[in-house]
Amino acid sequence: MRRLLIAGNWKMNAVRRSAVELAAAVAAQAPAESTAVDVMVAPPFPYLLPVGEALGGSRVLLAAQDVWHEPPGAFTGEVAVEMLRDVGCREVIIGHSERRHVVGETDSRINRKVVASLHGGLDVVLCVGELLEEREAGRTEAVLDQQLSAGLDGVSADQMARVILAYEPVWAIGTGKVATPDQAQSAQAHLRKRLTERYNSGTAEATQILYGGSVKPDNARELLELPDVDGALIGGASLKAESFLPIVEHAVEVTRRRG
Ligand code: PEP
Repeated sequence: MRRLLIAGNWKMNAVRRSAVELAAAVAAQAPAESTAVDVMVAPPFPYLLPVGEALGGSRVLLAAQDVWHEPPGAFTGEVAVEMLRDVGCREVIIGHSERRHVVGETDSRINRKVVASLHGGLDVVLCVGELLEEREAGRTEAVLDQQLSAGLDGVSADQMARVILAYEPVWAIGTGKVATPDQAQSAQAHLRKRLTERYNSGTAEATQILYGGSVKPDNARELLELPDVDGALIGGASLKAESFLPIVEHAVEVTRRRG
């Protein structure tokens, strides 16, 4: 049975004090080791160190929201894999829709980041997802196929143990328009089917696939209960302990019921 991961993507939000307070609140309520639920937070780069300190010895994982794919050197404004590891990150989010569609990152750049991160010792959360017009044109699966195969180019079945996928329909991110359970399940089952074809069924069954897009305390449970949803990547609702922690609680209940 796959574990559930509840991940908070803080995006470009918080100041040092609010970041530290939120991290401390999340750490204080993190699920016990005996549960099958993991929690991750991804603060902005400047707050990785203080947030890491606030998480202390808790089980909450520290992730970065992005990375650069070259070793340290002349890349003004960028942050290297080694630097993220040095400040305590274990994971990095790559290919978030805001990186793809606001900053203009291509599949090939995203792939270079995935490969460099795995090579340098960071685990990866690779985001994929279709735009509204792509869904309306019936192209959801084709878009996911393209982003998945390009994003995972050169990634071996062994390395997939260190990759988590996040299905994030772009039209559901930050809009309050959550995917229906059918839409989420169908896209996530499709991704798992592609992992079977690309690697093998063992790898596909072991890979965690998160859902992201307007997850809130009142819709989290029905999404987390879906067979191919292994957790959530959460933006807005991760910025307050009062909205993030109830989602973690839902995840704990779902795994308890599964036994
Ligand atoms: C996200 O940023 O990945 C996200 C899903 O945001 P929100 O939960 O606000 O839709």
